[in-house]
Amino acid sequence: MGRLPSSCYDHDHSALEALLTDLLGTAPGYRLDQLWQGLYDGLLDPAAITTLPASLRSDLAERLPAGLVEETRSVGDGGETTKWLWRLADDALVETVLMHYDDRSTVCVSTQSGCAMACGFCATGQMGFDRNLTTGEIVEQVVRAQRQAGERRVSNVVFMGMGEPLANYDRTWAAVERLHEALGLSARHLTISTVGLVPGIRRLAEEDLPVNLAVSLHAADDELRDELVPINRRWPLAELADACRTHIDATGRRLSFEWALIHDVNDRPGDARRLAAYARPLGAHINLIPLNPTPGWPTRGSSRQRVLAFADELRNHGANATIRRTRGTEIDAACGQLRANRTVTPVAWPGRRQTDGTGSADGPQGDLPLPD
Ligand code: SAH
Repeated sequence: MGRLPSSCYDHDHSALEALLTDLLGTAPGYRLDQLWQGLYDGLLDPAAITTLPASLRSDLAERLPAGLVEETRSVGDGGETTKWLWRLADDALVETVLMHYDDRSTVCVSTQSGCAMACGFCATGQMGFDRNLTTGEIVEQVVRAQRQAGERRVSNVVFMGMGEPLANYDRTWAAVERLHEALGLSARHLTISTVGLVPGIRRLAEEDLPVNLAVSLHAADDELRDELVPINRRWPLAELADACRTHIDATGRRLSFEWALIHDVNDRPGDARRLAAYARPLGAHINLIPLNPTPGWPTRGSSRQRVLAFADELRNHGANATIRRTRGTEIDAACGQLRANRTVTPVAWPGRRQTDGTGSADGPQGDLPLPD
């Protein structure tokens, strides 16, 4: 074990002021602005903020260490996708993915090391829960991705990496506020994805910043969802729909449902009809993606043909859906593949290099509009 978990981005404005006051022995005045601008406009480590005097920089370097140490960085999709594996101060490992599209650049951040939600098809769920990330560790993922992105501005952040954001509510929300205030990301470009923690969704609805909500649905009947997404046993579909309605009414944001299509499990016409009936009254948009392969789950993603048929069935029943193009499969950066364990070799799966489609909406994949 190393240092206690912390990141220089764990300090909010007043904590930085207190730290500078302590180091300088006097009110920091414009030094505080220089430090803040260095961290958030310059995206610099304190040691590199050259507007500050050298002695202060070296004190700050000691008191404000980076929270993320790059363990590996992999690049895929012709340079348009980058995945990092970070080592945190206590040796926990988490992943972040940066995806460039023609019209935007999106970072997919982790909120926990591991996950306690135990969805069997998800690689992070398979590894179990390690710990919550701190606010700074979440914010720093975006800062580091923006550093790499250079001239291409990170416009969107999706909380769809490792972990369940609403199970680490306070730190996740503090990160949302920091991204908004300090990095200038607009609330409509921030998306929180959840398995469906109803109290968390209700809290989100009360926040001042209206962020987008994505719910990982995967089944629209309780029996199947109890199996695929075990938290459904605690908050079944009817309660989830009520909470979603509250969020929509309070924020005016469009709701989206994530649906990983699993061959013969949730990709039959009846599944599409049930999903359409569930989504329609909420006006929810449905994002379809064939299940990505993970080491610990013996099922496979739906074929291209079944995906298209499912999307047709949804459309015939009045629901809006988009088929998403997987990003980062060859670097194991695709949805559900984030698993901070370098010894695992993913299983081969014939559909994993699917590449058709174009990008337009938020999310870790590009989108393929439905055929007419
Ligand atoms: N815990 C949050 C966010 C992390 S998971 C949530 O569940 O929403 C991000 C998305 O990837 C979720 O929609 C999740 O259901 C999906 N996912 C997990 N494993 C997957 C897999 N093997 N293939 C495709 N999508 C997967």
